[in-house]
This record gives sequence, C-alpha cells and structure tokens, in this order.
Amino acid sequence: MPEAPKITQKPTDYSLELKNKKTLQFIEDVTSNADEVQRKVLEEILARNAHVEYLQTHGLNGHTDRESFKKIMPVITYEDVQPHVERIANGDMSPILCSKPISEFLTSSGTSGGERKLMPTIEEELGRRSLLYSLLMPVMSQFVPGLDKGKGMYFLFIKSEAKTPGGLVARPVLTSYYKSSHFKDRPYDPYTNYTSPNETILCPDSYQSMYSQMLCGLCQHKEVLRVGAVFASGFIRAIKFLEKHWRTLCNDIRTGTIDSQITDQSVREAVMKILKPDPKLADFIEAECSKSSWQGIITKLWPNTKYVDVIVTGTMSQYIPTLDYYSNGLPLVCTMYASSECYFGVNLNPLCKPSEVSYTLIPTMAYFEFLPVQRNNGVTNSISVPKTLNEKEQQELVDLVDVKLGQEYELVVTTYSGLYRYRVGDVLRVAGFKNKAPQFNFICRKNVVLSIDSDKTDEVELQHAVKNAVNHLLPFDATLAEYTSYADTTTIPGHYVLYLELSLNGTTPIPPSVFEDCCLTIEESLNSVYRQGRVCDRSIGPLEIKIVEPGTFDKLMDYAISLGASINQYKTPRCVKFAPIVELLNSRAVSSYFSPKCPKWFPGHKQWGTMN
Ligand code: AMP
Repeated sequence: MPEAPKITQKPTDYSLELKNKKTLQFIEDVTSNADEVQRKVLEEILARNAHVEYLQTHGLNGHTDRESFKKIMPVITYEDVQPHVERIANGDMSPILCSKPISEFLTSSGTSGGERKLMPTIEEELGRRSLLYSLLMPVMSQFVPGLDKGKGMYFLFIKSEAKTPGGLVARPVLTSYYKSSHFKDRPYDPYTNYTSPNETILCPDSYQSMYSQMLCGLCQHKEVLRVGAVFASGFIRAIKFLEKHWRTLCNDIRTGTIDSQITDQSVREAVMKILKPDPKLADFIEAECSKSSWQGIITKLWPNTKYVDVIVTGTMSQYIPTLDYYSNGLPLVCTMYASSECYFGVNLNPLCKPSEVSYTLIPTMAYFEFLPVQRNNGVTNSISVPKTLNEKEQQELVDLVDVKLGQEYELVVTTYSGLYRYRVGDVLRVAGFKNKAPQFNFICRKNVVLSIDSDKTDEVELQHAVKNAVNHLLPFDATLAEYTSYADTTTIPGHYVLYLELSLNGTTPIPPSVFEDCCLTIEESLNSVYRQGRVCDRSIGPLEIKIVEPGTFDKLMDYAISLGASINQYKTPRCVKFAPIVELLNSRAVSSYFSPKCPKWFPGHKQWGTMN
C-alpha cells in the first residue's frame, strides 16, 4: 500500500498546534486581565440574577458592583443556603437563587447532617466545565509532546443517581458530565481519545464497568500514552482489580470472547469492537502478572506510558508511595482542581513534583474571594477558621488579584448557578502568580480528619460515631478513656482505624463480637459518602478498632510535648498522620477487630423516602 502523502497529515498537526496555541493564549489573556475578568463575571452574574429572591431579600437592589455586593451580601456556608436548596428540591420552580432554571443538583462529597450537600446547577455550567477540561491537554503538550499520537487509559465511572421530590435529578458532578452530550457526543479529538468506550464508562454496574475498561485498556496496551483516574485512590483500585482478575481478563484476550459475568449488552457490543483473539498478548500479560513483584507493573503492561494522571494533592497524597511503586516513579500529574460548586483551575506546570503542585484559578469560572486563615502549627495542625463571620471578618475577604504570596485563605465563590459568597471549605496557600492570577497549593479541606476516597469525615461526626459505639461497652462496665483515628492506606482499599484506650472496671471479659458491633456502629453513624464508599463502590475497607494498653495516650502526650506542643494547650488529636505516632499506637495495641459487614446505605437522601 502506498504511504499516505505527508500533506494529509500536516493540516491535522497544524490545526492541532493552532488550537493549542489559541488555548494557551486564552490562559495568557484571562490571567493577565484577571481583575477585569473577575469584575465582569460578577457583574454578569448579578445583572442576570438581579430579580432572584435571594438577592432581593438581602436588598442588593440590582447593584452589580463589587463594593455593594461585598457590603450587602453575607458570606455563607451550606447550612445558610440549605433552606433555599430544599425548596428547589421539593419542586419550587420560582427563581429563588438563579434566574435560569436549575437543571439538576450535583451531590457533593461534602456532607451536611450526614447527607451529601446538594449543589444547584444550570445547563450552561456544563460548557464552563468543558472549557476547563479543554485547557488541560494544550498545557500538558507543552511538556510532553506527541500525546495526540496515542490514547489515554482512564478509569472513569458513573455513580447512582436519585430524584428529588420535585423531580430534579441529583447525582455527582462527574456522573452528570459523563452522561452529558459534552462528553458522550464529543467530536473526535486526539486528546480525548480514550481506551474505554463510552458504554463501559456509562455502565452503572461498577464491576462490569471496571472489568470492561481494564479489558479494553489491556487490548490497546501499546497505544496507551497516559493512564489515570480522577483521584489516586481510584487508580490504585483499578490496579488491585487487575491483581484479582487478570486470569479471567487474559482468558478473554486469548479467546476473543467476553466473560459471562459481563451481561450488559451495550458494554459487550462496545468491547467486541476492540477485543480480538490475541494469545501472544494474553501470554505476555499472564507472564507479567504472575510474577511475585508487581513493582512497575504499569510500565510493563503499558510500555509507552509517559505519566500517571491522577489527583495526588490534599488527602490523596497518602497514595504517592503506592503509585510510585506500581509505576516505577513515572511522573504523577495533577491537572486540575474542581468541585461540585464550580470548577476552579488548572496546573500550568504539570510535571512538577506532587508536593509543589499549584493550581491557577481561571478567572472566567466564577467570582472568587479569599478569607485569610491562620494555622496553629501545633501537633494537631488544626486550622482556625471562624464558623460564622462577623462584619469585620466579612470585610477581610480579598479579591483574586489581591491575595498575598505565602498566605493561606479559605476559598469563597459566587457562581453562575446561584451560590453567592459561598464558603467552599478548602484552604489554599498562594504559591506564586501566573501574570495577575494567583496559583494556589491545595492545603486541606477544613475540619476533615479522615478520608480514604472521596469521603470526608470531620471531627464532630467521628466523635458522635464513637459515642454511639461505646454504648455497647456499658454492660461490661468499660468506659472510653481516650481515642484517636488514622486513615490506613497501606491496605487496598484503605480503611479507618480507631485506637481506643478503655477504663475497665468490670470483671467480665468483653467478647470480640462486642468490639465488632462497635466497629459496625461507628460505620452506621458515619455520613452517607463514607457508607456509599463501603457498600457500593467498595472503595473503603472495613473499619478497624485497635484497643491500646492503658497509659498509651499519656505516652502520646509525652511524645507531642517532646516535639514542642504546649502542656497547657495539649489536646488529644482525634486523628493522627505522623508515622512515629502511628507506630507508637500500633506498638501498644493489644487487640484488633474489624467491622463484620457493610453498613446500610441507600441512594438519595433519607428525607426523600424511597428512591428509584
Ligand atoms: P466534590 O464537591 O465532591 O466535587 O469535591 C470537591 C472537593 O474535592 C474540593 O472542594 C476539594 O476539597 C477536593 N478536590 C478537588 N480537586 C482537588 C485537587 N486537585 N486537589 C485536592 N483536592 C481536590
């Protein structure tokens, strides 16, 4: 066959280059004019929503300037906006928060009262999300050339959805995005060319979805140039899945047939377009997977992989060593920072070390403000952010271009879909600037003590859960002296560990089943995102209780004080992360118990009754 004339190749390369250039220019423009763009964004949001009930009740009176907005509108948390959200969820279609119709609710992994928060959204937000996604590959291509010459193997999943009493859909933001035409009907683009057919991503059964995506990824192993998932935990789950199922996968590749457990017809059809009998490939995978060490398995099975695209900032940093092990130290790339409320920004230096990742907020996404926060640099490393802000504190918020290098802030957003001066709950530190736009290190999510996957458990929830659990010990005359917790990610999936020190007054020994009941009670008491992770996604392992010797928490205090904590102010940390402290606790553990079964979990909110 004659070689295709070079000329047919050229225009594609050329147009891609041009497209990339335009995108990078867009980033230059909006970051150079960050303040002006922010002014316009706020003006636009306030002008089109001038008549919505929320702004009218507060008396904004059609003003669209920053000064009036900041003077009149309060800085709020979810609990403030929740009554309005509930009215919309119950079917009130009047313009309460937003002049455009609320198209659905995005169920955040942040919780309130144990349930996922509901974020209103409007149709056009999908365009804004797509825009942020479209920035990622042109940025990446500056550092890694040739990414248009192959595919991305991304493990992407949808989660269950529910209907509010008023009939709106409520689902996670990524489920909404993958099910939208922006993703499903995307035109061919070498940068969104994935090994997973849409049908495998959109399959609601998580086993079938993972199996079929892995199968397609293996079949196209030589074409894969980058691998990833949204969060590090999800990618590690995929490797673990391969560890468990490679024999069946190899069998499918050898014979060119799909395992009978994959019953979804659309998935089978989509996979059959890719799967061909390939005994050589099956032998190769089998040989690699049956080796005793899986170190570098990614680079072996997908030899052309240039980087691993997963979020490893924030609590996900706990997975870096595991990822390094499986990928033989390939670059770990964190490309973006986003939430259900709104998508925020991108990493303009994607090959930097995970500890140096900073996100440049894109000024067109929303109107951003920043509340300065102080950090107590004690052992607990807690962050002091006022719960409700007084007038003086409300005045302390600064605009995007006015943040100071090195200072930490809580992010506050005003979105196109009806959130005004809303505290997202994330703490960010200014690491530098791209033109006028600041670049932020993600520091932490305020108040969160434990997280394995997308679960975010705070101190109050944990306290409440532990209190419920220790009721099981009362008949044995045992009381809780002290406790702390640890997110153990050395197991896959990771799991919560609770260290309990007990005061035992009774003489009857406590049977293991009672401690197991304690484990389950804690799980039942935790929020719905945690329970969903346990039950549905299996992304969190059974909770463990470790009973420690009497006097352990005194030792913990001595240790903290030796590190510089103040005796007077010392409080037992309700979560530990520092390896020597975990070691100290483990060395004094006398017994360990696991939750014997999964806690209860149902899709939707408990207030909504039975779900579809
Ligand atoms: P959700 O509301 O469930 O979409 O979760 C959004 C939250 O996930 C954000 O507010 C952050 O706390 C966290 N998150 C999102 N992107 C990143 C990132 N790149 N690095 C660290 N945390 C992130």
